[in-house]
Amino acid sequence: MSREKNTSILIIYTGGTIGMIKNADTGALESFNFDHLLNNVPELKQFNIEIGTRTFTPPIDSSDMEPELWGRIVKIIEENYELYDGFVILHGTDTMSFTASALSFMLEDLMKPVILTGSQLPIGTLRTDGKENLITAIEIAAAKNPDGTPIVPEVCVFFQDKLMRGNRTTKINSESFGAFDSNNYPPLATAGTDIHYNTNNIKKYVPGLKLKTHYKLNSQIVIFSLFPGIQQEIVEKLLGAGEVKGVIFRTFGAGNAPQKKWLIDALTQATAEGKIIINITQCAGGSVHMERYETGLQLLQAGVISGKDSTVEASLTKLMYLLGEGLPTAEIRTLMGRNIAGEITE
Ligand code: ASP
Repeated sequence: MSREKNTSILIIYTGGTIGMIKNADTGALESFNFDHLLNNVPELKQFNIEIGTRTFTPPIDSSDMEPELWGRIVKIIEENYELYDGFVILHGTDTMSFTASALSFMLEDLMKPVILTGSQLPIGTLRTDGKENLITAIEIAAAKNPDGTPIVPEVCVFFQDKLMRGNRTTKINSESFGAFDSNNYPPLATAGTDIHYNTNNIKKYVPGLKLKTHYKLNSQIVIFSLFPGIQQEIVEKLLGAGEVKGVIFRTFGAGNAPQKKWLIDALTQATAEGKIIINITQCAGGSVHMERYETGLQLLQAGVISGKDSTVEASLTKLMYLLGEGLPTAEIRTLMGRNIAGEITE
């Protein structure tokens, strides 16, 4: 593994805690000035890497993230794809997993590293996790095999000491430095004294593949979670709403739902209207197996599609992408049950 002398990385700063610096006089958090990046993180000078930057103006709290802004990130990557060896996206942690998942579908046949990172404490504070995260994310984005190909040619999240496939991540903690996890897929790398790459888990580099970008996303989707005592009228209104084209249906355990005739009828009716309903477990880890219990089988019979072991973030953004592509319902149904960007274990 080597870092080429002329390696270049583009940092795209979208906002979030990482990019803030505490004003020594007022104590208030202020947005980071990227023109002074090298001065504020002098450690970066030790890298033999050319660093370019792009910044969202104004930078956003990631709670304000929108599909159009994912499009803005994709555009920056597309326009700079041939100019840089890899990309680091600085992003608020709150919706980082949604962005990473969306990018994994919008950047088809990506063959360069796109590493998202952020921090729990601003980069200008004493105990910040931002410097470590940023420095290691750059190192990973720049890492190459001896033949010059990138070690990690995919969309990832790097946080604390783990590099994870982006569309497998979920934010699991609002305070800990280990804010993200990938419950259903092993880490792509771990960073200790060395960065250890788990090459078997990383997407393979395919020479000659051309990046294809996708910008159209349709977010006429609801995420709806089951609970004991769920009300018929509310569910029927939700599933019957004309604006709804897709449903991320969060079920119990291995994909189970109460055996209520009205619920199965409402799901059957929604499916008959062409709505795409994806079964995703409420559990933090594990997969949906609708054939395992009677309570899951009835959903299968109602036309509900198994999202298998994909996360809510991945199934939601995948459905946005497939609906946005305007594919026939039958094709979307097939693709939702199948791995297309590393989001499902098959
Ligand atoms: N609210 C912030 C954001 O997601 C939190 C963070 O950056 O960690 O933008």
